Amino acid sequence: MPAANPLATRIRAALAARDAQGLYRHRQAIQRLDGGQILVDGTPYHHFCGNDYLGLAESSRLTEAWKRGLRRFGAGSGASPLVTGHHQAHQQLEQTLCQWLGFERALLFSSGFAANQAVIHALMQKSDLLLQDRLNHASLQEAGHLCPATQARFGHNDCDDLERRLVRADPEQAKLVITEGVFSMDGDRAPLADIATLCKQHQAWLMVDDAHGCGVLGQQGRGSCDAAGIQPDLLLVTFGKAFGCAGAALLCRHEVAEYLTQFARHLIYSTALPPAQACAIGEAIDVLKQEPWRQQRLAQWQQLLQATLDPDIPLCHTDTPIQPLMVSDSQRALALSEALRRKGFWVSAIRPPTVPAGKARLRITLSAAHSEQQVRQLAAAINEAWHEQ
Ligand SMILES: *Cc1c(COP(=O)(O)O)cnc(C)c1O
Repeated sequence: MPAANPLATRIRAALAARDAQGLYRHRQAIQRLDGGQILVDGTPYHHFCGNDYLGLAESSRLTEAWKRGLRRFGAGSGASPLVTGHHQAHQQLEQTLCQWLGFERALLFSSGFAANQAVIHALMQKSDLLLQDRLNHASLQEAGHLCPATQARFGHNDCDDLERRLVRADPEQAKLVITEGVFSMDGDRAPLADIATLCKQHQAWLMVDDAHGCGVLGQQGRGSCDAAGIQPDLLLVTFGKAFGCAGAALLCRHEVAEYLTQFARHLIYSTALPPAQACAIGEAIDVLKQEPWRQQRLAQWQQLLQATLDPDIPLCHTDTPIQPLMVSDSQRALALSEALRRKGFWVSAIRPPTVPAGKARLRITLSAAHSEQQVRQLAAAINEAWHEQ
């Protein structure tokens, strides 16, 4: 008999271990329905775990803008940005982003994951110091581990710890501090004003990944930095969440954009976004400016959910659409998610390694696409399911 293939053996063992830990994951093919619902295996569910916070993914304004873009620019960009993939539609979106968010330059990326990798790998060198919040997104943590700089993680939202690390660092060293604006799994906000002050004092650059804040917080949805009154050196915004599309942009100074255009491999060796997608993202920004009711509605639903859940239920009260219900144990989180499903609500359990061990949760997210009745019904279903378990 031939020896077992070592890769195949490793894969089989890893899958068995995942399963034994109760951490095995599956995808579900869904179909989106209007009104914050999804269809799974022919059954409709109220959908309370997506990132379409403003309901823009189901907005006909966006789909119509995307269609107009398709007719004008065709299906794809046809090349990477430095060859001939950078179209007028991209240029226009970059200009719109610069004006809206108050930066000299914007660079489009096909995803936030790619943008984070690009920035860290292109900017960080061996003698540099990269300081990241302990709970930063996997795309940031992973790039930080792989890049040649020294990486350290400071305590979550802990400015004292950050300051200690900055004080200890070599004053000559190039330093980059990265935090999320709104933390994706906890829904809490970074103390951006304090972090920005510390960075200035210690000559460190600040990057804010505002994947979950942009669109939702600040004037006209300009995001966490606008809400905190700061301007970071680098701002990442993504279009797959509140913007209802996909893709990302890095906002920065002119010279940084020029540098990344020369040296960021994720930008240079990757096909540019379809130009029609840039049209849809531009439309999403118009909707944000013109339809403030979407943000207002979200704030209402946050208060309503917090007020209607039984007080002994460990919901983290945040002022963002992410309202985690802490369950700790992975199996219990799965059971609760399953109980809610039987009542017609789709709320996934989030388990390690996405969150730290012992911190499993239901990551409940609210959307402007939900109705008041849906939020009230969700609260009633959680109240029942929690006490049944
Ligand atoms: C989702 C997310 C990303 C990745 O963005 P994509 O465009 O989905 O690749 C990056 N950072 C944070 C904080 C995120 O939540």
